[in-house]
This record gives sequence, C-alpha cells and structure tokens, in this order.
Amino acid sequence: MSNQSNNGYLKFWGVRGTFPITSASHSKYGGNTSCIELMCGDHLILFDAGTGLKVFGDFLLAQKKIIKADILISHTHLDHILGIPFFKPFYASSHQFRLWAGHLQPERLLKDVLSNMMTEPFFPIPIDIFKADIAYNDFNPKDILHLSESIKVETTSLNHPNRAIGYRVNYNNLSICYVTDTEHQTDEQNAHILKLIQDADYFIYDATYTDNEFELHRHWGHSSWQEGYRLAKEASVKNYIIFHHDPDHDDQFMDKIALEASSLNPNTIVAYEGLNIKF
Ligand SMILES: [Zn+2]
Ligand SMILES: [Zn+2]
Repeated sequence: MSNQSNNGYLKFWGVRGTFPITSASHSKYGGNTSCIELMCGDHLILFDAGTGLKVFGDFLLAQKKIIKADILISHTHLDHILGIPFFKPFYASSHQFRLWAGHLQPERLLKDVLSNMMTEPFFPIPIDIFKADIAYNDFNPKDILHLSESIKVETTSLNHPNRAIGYRVNYNNLSICYVTDTEHQTDEQNAHILKLIQDADYFIYDATYTDNEFELHRHWGHSSWQEGYRLAKEASVKNYIIFHHDPDHDDQFMDKIALEASSLNPNTIVAYEGLNIKF
C-alpha cells in the first residue's frame, strides 16, 4: 500500500460487465456497467464510460465545479461507452475532457465510432450537441500517455473480439492497472498483461467467469476471477480487484466468490458500486 501523500482514491461507479441489471438480488454489488473514478491529487481520470458514468455525472454536477478529466476507454463495446450520451457534464460548455482509445486505429477513429452510436435510428441527437470542450484522442497499443508531469499511463493490447486496451496509471509511487475485457490463454499466461501489472499496487481485472464457466465460453473474450488471482500472484501485485461481473451472478453468487477469493489471498477485493479505496 502506498503512503498517504499520494492523496487520491479509486471509486467504483459501475462494476458490471456485458449488460446493466437492476434487481433486488443484485443490489449489494450493483448493476451499472464499467466506470471507475481514479483521483490522483486533483487530476481526475476515469476508466471507461459504461452506465455508471451517468450516475457519476449527476454526482459531479451537484459539486458545481468546473470539471476536467481524462477518460481512458478500454474499447467501444456498448457496456463500456453507453454512459457517454447520458453524461450531463458533456452538455455544458464550461467543462473539459480528453477521451482516449487505443483499439480502433488504423481502421477507425474514436470520434467516428461514438458518432455512429449517437446516430439515428439508434439515438435521437447527434454527438455534436455536446457543448463541453472534448478532445477525442486515438493512440496505438503500447503507446505511453503523459497525462501530466506526474501521471504516466502505460498501455497494452488485450485478447478480445474487436480488440481492447489495458492501462497502467503511474502516479508518484502508486500504480493502478485496469485490465478488462480480455480472454486468457489457458496454457500460457499473457506476457503483455504480466509485464503491465508487475508489482502494481492495484490490479483491476476482467473476472466475468469462474474457471468452470470459462471452459463453456471460450472465444467470448473474457476471463475468470481465478485467472486474475494467478496473474496477480505471478506479477507480485499488492491488491487484486475482481471486476466486470457477469449480470447472471447475483449477490449470493458474488459473496461466494468473495469468500473463496479472500481465502486464497486476503488482499483481494470484489468490486461493488460505491467502493472507495483511498491511497
Ligand atoms: Zn465488457
Ligand atoms: Zn467487450
């Protein structure tokens, strides 16, 4: 664990993968899809823009501050971008955002892909209605993003249909890795991921399945919580965070995973909506 002087936190606004779900049996872990707030000092970073982004946007507006943020997008499957049209700060001219995606080039560009989502007959209003200052930045896997003097982001490609990007944010002495969505190779661990997460303080991982379920879902592009545990162990990660929960896994099921995972390694956290980890 890093020292207090880093002055930041990780807050989870959406932890579900694939599809948002609302039901009493999912209320403990939450039903919104991928969106995590990472505060590094006064620099706001978001991992992904799933349906959790809508809730976060409402929270931000209530603060009545000028908002500046970098939004690191893993890929553009809907569960990771559906919050974008509903993120109210995009509709106000005072705010500034930089969106980043590294899985689309050379065939596509991020702004075009998001524009296509906000196009009739899928959506009533076009992306140009946004009034905020928004930069849509495309990069290539393995590029390093220098978000500020003290924040360097390493990137790598993941094993996912239509591609995806894993991130490692380095801030002072702290490192936070966001690795979803990705399917592991059964007999050999993914060398790119191990390199990215080596000695990380926090490792957030695509734990959609259990190992048993994984065998039935080869080529669906996801991994298991047990694989995350194995990767975390091999790379000497300090804290492993189970993330991107299958909407078919209710609270009872997730509680069982939490129990099993913490008996393997007590420094394991099953992400839930509202989880706030201070550095
Ligand atoms: Zn996903
Ligand atoms: Zn995906």
